[in-house]
Amino acid sequence: MHKVSDVKVEQDIMRINRKIASENRSFFEKNGITVFNIMGAIGSGKTCLIEHAIEELKDSYSIAVIAGDVIAQYDSDRFASHGVKVLPVSTGKECHLDAHFVEHALEHTDVKDIDILFIENVGNLICPSDFDLGEDARVVIVSVSEGDDIVLKHPVIFKLSDLTVVNKVDIAEHVGASAEKMVADAITCGCTRAIPTSCRKGEGLEEWVSFIRETLRT
Ligand code: MG
Ligand code: ZN
Repeated sequence: MHKVSDVKVEQDIMRINRKIASENRSFFEKNGITVFNIMGAIGSGKTCLIEHAIEELKDSYSIAVIAGDVIAQYDSDRFASHGVKVLPVSTGKECHLDAHFVEHALEHTDVKDIDILFIENVGNLICPSDFDLGEDARVVIVSVSEGDDIVLKHPVIFKLSDLTVVNKVDIAEHVGASAEKMVADAITCGCTRAIPTSCRKGEGLEEWVSFIRETLRT
């Protein structure tokens, strides 16, 4: 049960987040940075899909990454091995990133020549969708191993995303899931674009990278 005072605190948190997110957005615009907020459960393939995009795009664009895991070091090392700039963030016990985290991560970074910023959000499908970070595009990644009813169980995050990636389609048969259903469900929830991928086998990755290219500012 929420007390009235809890509701007030929550409203304040959301109001402050909106303000900082809009400051972040102006900052990104001014500096010509296109920002992707990558959301999805633990193990859905967020890191793998970002790594693939980095490999495809890093010769043409300068790329930075924020790894927002509770212990960010693991994914940070993976990203750093691709030669991109990794911005330090430690979310501690938080289950989502907010605009303030992103603002802090940028504070001590020379952003002058960054073209693309990937923000890997903390792994869950619930609260990250409540927090605008100032991004240009929101991407939600789900894997078939989460079960093919996962999309309809979490409609909000799909409705609020610009792209749904249904990942690990190569193992769909083995886990008894229909990737087609998950793609269709995402559209039903209000997401305008949904694609099936297998980050491991390469399926659908061209369209994933196309989405990024189409979103870029220039
Ligand atoms: Mg990860
Ligand atoms: Zn949270």
